[in-house]
Amino acid sequence: MHPHIWYPFTQAKTSPPPLKVKSARGVWLELKDGRKILDCISSWWVNIHGHTHPKIAEAIFRQATELEHVIFAGFSHDPAEMLAEQLTERLPNGLNRVFFSDNGSTAVEVALKMAYQHWVNQNQQRQKFIAFEGAYHGDTFGAMSVGSRSIFTQVFSDMLFEVDFLPYPATYIGDPKIVKREQEVLNQLQEKLERNPKAYAGIIIEPLVQGAGGMQMCRVEFLQKLHQLAQQFDTLLIFDEIMTGFGRTGDWFACLKAQVTPDIICLSKGITGGFLPLAVSICSEEIYASFYSDDPIKTLYHGHSYTANPIGCAAALASLELMVENEPAFKGMEEKHLQYLTKLREAPKIEPKIEKLRVTGTIAAMDIVNSQKSGYLNKIGLVIREKAIEKGLLLRPLGNVLYLMPPYCITDEELSMVYQGIGEILDSL
Ligand SMILES: *Cc1c(COP(=O)(O)O)cnc(C)c1O
Repeated sequence: MHPHIWYPFTQAKTSPPPLKVKSARGVWLELKDGRKILDCISSWWVNIHGHTHPKIAEAIFRQATELEHVIFAGFSHDPAEMLAEQLTERLPNGLNRVFFSDNGSTAVEVALKMAYQHWVNQNQQRQKFIAFEGAYHGDTFGAMSVGSRSIFTQVFSDMLFEVDFLPYPATYIGDPKIVKREQEVLNQLQEKLERNPKAYAGIIIEPLVQGAGGMQMCRVEFLQKLHQLAQQFDTLLIFDEIMTGFGRTGDWFACLKAQVTPDIICLSKGITGGFLPLAVSICSEEIYASFYSDDPIKTLYHGHSYTANPIGCAAALASLELMVENEPAFKGMEEKHLQYLTKLREAPKIEPKIEKLRVTGTIAAMDIVNSQKSGYLNKIGLVIREKAIEKGLLLRPLGNVLYLMPPYCITDEELSMVYQGIGEILDSL
């Protein structure tokens, strides 16, 4: 470990020293010792077009020589305005007002504050949120509160506000009971809302895929029924698309794939193609209208030093252009993942070691069968991680959940190498 750095999510005493990266291009990282590693997880799920894409690099350079930063209160600029226009144009009608911040956790904080104050501004006290077991919404206090209670939040549990949790109806290929499980969750939700219709400010969910919770995947049908209930009982629906946004689920956004328009959507990770920190919380005109007033107390008093940073916005605009150019890449990856997963399962030595295979768009996942308890602390993940590095692959299983989330620029040959490597690793377990 470096003597002056405190690394995130890392117990320095027991972790191996981090690998030092010198440079990167496309899906490849080059380490300082000369080794080449194929990035199968888009860095921290951010790097949708691959590393150091020249188009984004150029856009950043150009913007940096034009306007690098300006206070975003009382001032505005083209990159932010153009980005807001393009995002709202891409998103379902109704998601109309863009609030900028600088990372996923802050985008969630903003969404929670928007939802809560939306009711306060209409003289309603709605103190509670509904969220899902296994959810991850970030590491700040509000985001932790609506996240699943886990080893990540355990130390702070007394400091978190109260949230009602529902099971996330996760499914997989060949799941026979999903319709029943979904109905049970919806029944629980309906009961809560009927019992106390004015208690809930909103419902927050990671649509289609729960990321850090273990790449758990739910169905479009569930999200549609969830939306119906939220509307029927007049509570707000917040989609945390920080991981699922920008092509990850095989469509531009999970809400488009599900044909559901939430009241607020949070976006970050892929927004700048992995170059710079940036985030947005985008809400409906109705929410915005409840803040629009002569009364100063109805203002959303929230902002960050780097809110709508022009260079970040310029990177995001360049990344959106690349998404248009590369639409077939993220729309076509689901089919490829499915073919490779089928092959894996056909290998007699591998089949008993994996279960709950699942794919949504560019994300493929499976559970590794072993005797330890499932979850983040399952040690099989570390074993796989080390074996993968030996094979030149960056994989970072979430406990016993092995997943792939490659940059969209991965070639067929590279993807084939990745699955070949995974096959060998599973074989050796
Ligand atoms: C990563 C993530 C966050 C938090 O984003 P940060 O930029 O790491 O703060 C929130 N929600 C989801 C679904 C995420 O995947």
